[in-house]
Amino acid sequence: MAKICVIGSCSMDLVVTSNKRPHAGETVLGEQFSTVPGGKGANQAVAAARLGAEVTMVGCVGDDFYGTAIMDNLKKNRVFTANVEPVTHVESGTAHIILAEGDNSIIVVKGANDLVTPALVERALENIKGSDMVLIQQEIPEETVSYVSEICHKFNVPMLLNPAPARPISETIINNATYLTPNEHECAILFSEMSTAEALRKYPNKLFITEGSNGVRYYDGKQEVLVPTYKVNAIDTTGAGDTFNAAFAVALAEGKSIRTSVKFANRAASLSVTKFGAQGGMPTRVEVEVSL
Ligand code: ATP
Repeated sequence: MAKICVIGSCSMDLVVTSNKRPHAGETVLGEQFSTVPGGKGANQAVAAARLGAEVTMVGCVGDDFYGTAIMDNLKKNRVFTANVEPVTHVESGTAHIILAEGDNSIIVVKGANDLVTPALVERALENIKGSDMVLIQQEIPEETVSYVSEICHKFNVPMLLNPAPARPISETIINNATYLTPNEHECAILFSEMSTAEALRKYPNKLFITEGSNGVRYYDGKQEVLVPTYKVNAIDTTGAGDTFNAAFAVALAEGKSIRTSVKFANRAASLSVTKFGAQGGMPTRVEVEVSL
């Protein structure tokens, strides 16, 4: 069983569907309301656990109703939560999503996710050192991502950085990371001073660019490779990236080759888009293996 430590955000998505998006100052009636656990960190932790890994989550929730629900959901999905700390006086991270007129509008309130500090990471050090892979994203402070990259480098723990949401990151973080997995948009922001082809060549077997229904592109040291994903009837692509990252981390942590790991992750992510919801669509290990 691969041991994965996920360091990142835990949130609650508050989703309302409406025929009409309200203008400033306007009130409209909505159709449906639902609360769905989310946050890139928690999503990737749940996906990795479904794929059979032993997963520790490092994060923060508020001492509130949503915090309790977020923790319950992680536990229900067999994610180890001793390093998810409830904090007082700050609310849990939330995403306020309006689905209207065929598109979404989202306001994210970082809340407790802004308190995922280097000190909190320090308290999880033994778990990090004992992991086969650290999986991290950018919905937590940059100084924490930087600190984690230094720890991973120092203790020789492979680190997969999913640089989402996009922001420019330091050369040190890039060098400390073992794997980087931006989508095309994030890649353009990350390596704005060079072309995609140049970036791929600069980081062989490290930079993996996800290209949605196209698959994944990387440079293997000799040539640029595009590993096509599987053709599916896509219903909802929310969380495709989270499932891809979790599955890629699990396969690599199990010692599978890069090529096999990309294929495994493409399969898991392509299955996830055939169902509604981010966590709702995340497949189990058996579902991935029977369809490889
Ligand atoms: P999101 O933000 O929607 O979760 P993303 O933008 O981070 O996703 P994408 O590049 O869109 O990431 O998708 C990640 C991976 O998911 C792809 O590399 C591919 O393996 C798989 N995938 C996404 N969309 C599809 C699709 N329509 N059909 C099959 N596989 C898909």
